[in-house]
Amino acid sequence: MAGKALIVVDVQNDFCPGGALAVDRGDEVVPLINTLAKNFEHVILTQDWHPAGHSSFASTHKGRQAFETIELPYGDQTLWPDHCIQGSDGAAFHSGLVWTKAELVVRKGFRPSIDSYSAFFENDHKTPTGLAGYLRERGISDITLAGLATDYCVAYSALDAAGQGFGATVQLDCCRAIDLSGSLEKMLGKMKAAGVALV
Ligand SMILES: [Zn+2]
Repeated sequence: MAGKALIVVDVQNDFCPGGALAVDRGDEVVPLINTLAKNFEHVILTQDWHPAGHSSFASTHKGRQAFETIELPYGDQTLWPDHCIQGSDGAAFHSGLVWTKAELVVRKGFRPSIDSYSAFFENDHKTPTGLAGYLRERGISDITLAGLATDYCVAYSALDAAGQGFGATVQLDCCRAIDLSGSLEKMLGKMKAAGVALV
């Protein structure tokens, strides 16, 4: 399948049961993604990768609780428990993930003052990660996304992929959602409207 890549989003310990920001049944995607990856010549991983004291952590903002929303210079930001700290076990890929085939790992959220849900742009929607350029140089025009979480990093990545002119498909059975205040339904609607294929 030249020209097509599987992008495996944030299948990291902290997003799986027992992790700091566990997505319900997040670990269920691991064997499904391992099977799915066999159908792709190109596999790319994303890895949430925050310095301690990151601006997306509730603990960084005095008097704030996880899952509250605050306003940062680039817009609204949901606050999260401390998670995926650079080099920690929580930031490591799930031990069952067969990741050796991956050609690229895109780390995101490493700048202290800005979060990054999308694999393409940080949360200011302006600062690129370099992924679009990588895909274009490799002749990859279509991507399939799977991983965690459906309504955050997968959805924002899919929307940016479509916005950058890539064919974007989300393999929903290989994703699990956080679903915070109706976020899953909202983001599924946005993806459909943007022409993302939901399969
Ligand atoms: Zn994060």
